Amino acid sequence: MAEETLFSKIIRKEIPADILYQDDLVTAFRDINPRAPSHILIIPNKIIPTTNDVEEEDEALMGRLFTVAKKLAKQEGIAENGYRLIVNCNAHGGQEVYHIHMHLVGGQPLGPMLVN
Ligand code: AMP
Repeated sequence: MAEETLFSKIIRKEIPADILYQDDLVTAFRDINPRAPSHILIIPNKIIPTTNDVEEEDEALMGRLFTVAKKLAKQEGIAENGYRLIVNCNAHGGQEVYHIHMHLVGGQPLGPMLVN
């Protein structure tokens, strides 16, 4: 059984977060340290630590991250101009919280893809 992080507490509403969307599979809330005008985290309710831990049985769940990202991008008014979806994995990917999450970032030009 994977270990809980603070994101499990956000899902259960035990610690405060600006939750924008929640269903039986996923939860989405604003990043506490936004790097752009819109910065939302979309996470599975199930604990999956990293992309290395995603199994075939999670395919529908992973798909839900994208359909919710699409809905929230529209809701934020950033769909037409565009945005970036990011999933960091482990140390080299800069992952800080070991509960897989998709960053939805937009609201300004984001520049080229980063690798320094
Ligand atoms: P990552 O580096 O991909 O693991 O991203 C983790 C993200 O979680 C960072 O962008 C943090 O700002 C964000 N974060 C950490 N704690 C919280 C929290 N309590 N509520 C919302 N976002 C958080």
